[in-house]
Amino acid sequence: MPVLPAAADIRARTHDPLALTPRQRAQLRGELCARCGSQNVTQAAGYAYVQSGPGRLGRPVRVCANCPSNVGG
Ligand SMILES: [Zn+2]
Repeated sequence: MPVLPAAADIRARTHDPLALTPRQRAQLRGELCARCGSQNVTQAAGYAYVQSGPGRLGRPVRVCANCPSNVGG
């Protein structure tokens, strides 16, 4: 399975909480891989960010065995 580009990664940018897709919400809950959306999440992968007032909230996310745990990998 090819690794998706970094732009597809939930961690690649800060998200508008009102514009999240169901897939993105599951990724932010750590239920799906932060990059490819696989259900076989195996490792912690830092944080994804959602806008919150003037700042942003970090949500711990996870990735599957096929995806790099660092956002730029
Ligand atoms: Zn993955």
